[in-house]
Amino acid sequence: MPCEQADIAIIGGGPAGAAAALTLRRHAPGLSVVLFDAGRHALEKPGEILPAVAQGLLRQLGVWTEFLSSDFVESRAVIAAWASETPDERASIFSAQGPGWQLDRARFDRLMVQAASDSGVEVRLGTAVLSATRSDQGWRLGLADGEIVANTVIWATGRSWKLARSFGAKLRVHSHLAAYARFFDGVPGDCQMLIEARPEGWWYSADLPGQRRVVACMTDPDLGGDLRNPNYWYDALAATRIIAPLLPKGAYETAMLVKSAGTATIDPAAGNHWVAAGDSLFSADPLSSRGIVHALRTGILAAYAASDMMDGRGELARMRYAMIASQGFADYGPALAAHYATAARWDTAFWQRRRSHAAALASG
Ligand SMILES: Cc1cc2nc3c(=O)[nH]c(=O)nc-3n(C[C@H](O)[C@H](O)[C@H](O)COP(=O)(O)OP(=O)(O)OC[C@H]3O[C@@H](n4cnc5c(N)ncnc54)[C@H](O)[C@@H]3O)c2cc1C
Repeated sequence: MPCEQADIAIIGGGPAGAAAALTLRRHAPGLSVVLFDAGRHALEKPGEILPAVAQGLLRQLGVWTEFLSSDFVESRAVIAAWASETPDERASIFSAQGPGWQLDRARFDRLMVQAASDSGVEVRLGTAVLSATRSDQGWRLGLADGEIVANTVIWATGRSWKLARSFGAKLRVHSHLAAYARFFDGVPGDCQMLIEARPEGWWYSADLPGQRRVVACMTDPDLGGDLRNPNYWYDALAATRIIAPLLPKGAYETAMLVKSAGTATIDPAAGNHWVAAGDSLFSADPLSSRGIVHALRTGILAAYAASDMMDGRGELARMRYAMIASQGFADYGPALAAHYATAARWDTAFWQRRRSHAAALASG
């Protein structure tokens, strides 16, 4: 089979990879860009809350009109039983940035890769990159049915770090966390997002487009093993104060997922003709609600760094990118520590660990 060539290959077609692809088409239209995604964005995926600040990034990427016509749910309020059992309601109209959105994540991710494809990027869904090897010609990427050689690679595989060793990058896991999420149909919308601290961890729930709702329990993987069992999960849900009452009798479960959700970083952020973006670079605790915005922002910056690498300015691009990436992480620890400290109502294993992880992150 002949070996294919591209100037830039993007591995991963989530928000980070798609943002990188769209940016490259605008910023460096002369470069050939191919984007691979192992999946097809057909399955349920958690990560539904898109803060209002994303609007500027979606405009910059040229997808604002498509986004607006996608009928995602505009968030009306966040209700939190966090610092105490008494729910605290924050209406979006009082936010300086306006309301954010509650997404159908698979649909949002499809919208982004479709826009990249429409702009001229070669998008290959259902195509996993299995290996990456540096050669004199560039990066040789192994696919199930052949290989492709790319001058520069943008690594945006989310929380899958299988290629880390190929790039010479080290993964650092700062804290573990797992999401035990279930999706429901037949739930009338209320445009709200709820969050509740419980002894075993914390729960969140968001109303999604099309009368759907996601409900997830976040806890440590070694503490939450039983939550895979539906009986245990529904019993734990029944003990919540503000989340359980939102699931009406007619609601029926359509999917169940267990996802890792702790904090992790890689080092370095970029290397010899490669640059990491999104969760591959820095995975945040979902409590921070910053994952998608971070993915879009670093996808854009990774595209500029990759095109600088193509132009022979690799050293400068690497240094700049590493500096920006470390700044993005610097403010995260203190903010997360402050969030967890306000829910210090229990002395269970989960909350003891959260406090010590958060303190370690806050002190760098
Ligand atoms: C439970 C949970 C709740 C969350 N809630 C929120 C939230 O409310 N708001 C928010 O902003 N963020 C949230 N996040 C985080 C958010 O989902 C991520 O930060 C975001 O999806 C990161 O985008 P990404 O493009 O870096 O990675 P991803 O979205 O994970 O995309 C990576 C893509 O790479 C593909 N891929 C992986 N390996 C390969 C390979 N070898 N070859 C080809 N393709 C590959 C995958 O198929 C995938 O499509 C949440 C996360 C979790 C776990």
